[in-house]
Amino acid sequence: MFAGLRPRLFLSYLVLLLVTLGVIAVAFVLLLNIRPAPLEPTYQRLATLAVSTNLNEILQTSRPGGLRSLLDSETRLNAITQTFTQLAAERQVRILLVDVEEQTVFYDSAGMFQRGVTFSGRTETYAIPAAIRRGYGNQFGIIDAVRGAFDNPNGDEWLFVGLEALQQQDSVNALLFADPRPQTSLGDTLSEFGTELLPILLQAGAVSLIVAVLLAGVISRSVAEPLQTVANAAASVAAGNLNERVPIRGPSEVRSVAEAFNLMSEKVQAGQRSQQDFLANVSHDLKTPLTSIRGFSQAIMDGVGDPVESARIIHDEAARLNRMVIELTDLARLEAGRLSMKMAPVDMGQLTAAIGQRLTVVAREKGIALNVEATSMPPIAGDGDRLAQVLTNLISNAINYTPPGGEVNVRTLARNGGVEVTIQDTGIGIAPEELARIFERFYQVDKARGPRRGTGLGLAIVSEIVQAHGGRISVASEGEGRGAAFTIWLPSPHLSTVVRRRGT
Ligand code: ADP
Repeated sequence: MFAGLRPRLFLSYLVLLLVTLGVIAVAFVLLLNIRPAPLEPTYQRLATLAVSTNLNEILQTSRPGGLRSLLDSETRLNAITQTFTQLAAERQVRILLVDVEEQTVFYDSAGMFQRGVTFSGRTETYAIPAAIRRGYGNQFGIIDAVRGAFDNPNGDEWLFVGLEALQQQDSVNALLFADPRPQTSLGDTLSEFGTELLPILLQAGAVSLIVAVLLAGVISRSVAEPLQTVANAAASVAAGNLNERVPIRGPSEVRSVAEAFNLMSEKVQAGQRSQQDFLANVSHDLKTPLTSIRGFSQAIMDGVGDPVESARIIHDEAARLNRMVIELTDLARLEAGRLSMKMAPVDMGQLTAAIGQRLTVVAREKGIALNVEATSMPPIAGDGDRLAQVLTNLISNAINYTPPGGEVNVRTLARNGGVEVTIQDTGIGIAPEELARIFERFYQVDKARGPRRGTGLGLAIVSEIVQAHGGRISVASEGEGRGAAFTIWLPSPHLSTVVRRRGT
């Protein structure tokens, strides 16, 4: 169901969205919960209660300072407190009567403070808001309002609004209306959250959802379309259309897929081309000795020419065919990586010296000085027989392509975390334009110029073997007639693997 890129992207956006909104919601609930509850609504309720209490009626007096005179007589105080108790029950508020100056409680409707205990309230003058006063007329021309908070004996904090008699003699008295200080509860918080924040969060969620759908569409298109193009192109390559290339576009990962695809189809095409070239070369190179064999055997049958000479040529051509078949099978096995290399520690110095020794006779017969400068080298991991084949091939080539009187110098060197062998001659050299192609199968620089007819497979095999050892081979020549130098490098696990850049 969610196989496509678009639904997956959309789903991940959705999850991201829900998580984000959830975190915001939780953070807000926590924030609301730890925020102190506002005191003003309580003060306003208490002020309303205070203002709406008809004091004149309760005190049965309209004398200024009525509250003060009240406390002068015990009987009046008792009578009046009964009224207050009733009032407190009716209005669901706590009423206290205190001497503010002396900080003494006279009366507490809740009965928490006994008469005469110290009242330790934090009091400030309070201008009752006009909006509250307005509804109830102004019966307190001479009475100030106060408000503040006090602590109950049990530690609870209460808020109060009080009506304070003007100072008379040395005492000030006040009638207080008190409520517990409001606490925030999780319920309040949640209801506040539900009414105020939830709609905003839902709106934000809806907008983000639309954006997520659009983004999922845009992104999936920018990724999926180029990928689809690559998939189509790959199918086309599979169907045999090797010219197929795709445009490089989209995000960088998709671009690298497209680039890799183009590189791959280029390689496949190049591989196919070299296969065709190879087949053409093989058939041509097999045909030449066969033609010559047929020609000379015909001559023997017809009794033309020197039969011994003809037989010698037939023998040579057959030997060459044989060599070619062996080399071709070798090469095929090497390229397929099937030829098992028997890896063991090999001292390239010793090996080079031994091969040099073996070929000294050949060189001397041709009048060429073969100088081998090879000391013991740190061992490399390699197949001794194969490496001997490499050295034999390169030194034989140097002897072959060097006219008598010349010299071949072979030198081994520990270098760049490996062992390097250089075979340098003073022979016919290689033209710059030929250098790059010299390692190709069947490639022979100039079939007429060589001293003997080779197969053109030797260097291809050498290169394969060196590469199979994780090494490198290179050739340098200053041009025709100016000698050539072949260098192979093989990594040694016994040497530091710091590879110096070329030219440094
Ligand atoms: P071949 O069997 O013809 O020697 P190789 O693969 O060994 O085949 O060499 C390919 C071609 O490279 C040769 O035909 C020759 O023209 C050229 N070549 C190889 N080694 C040398 C060298 N030391 N000096 C000049 N040319 C060389």
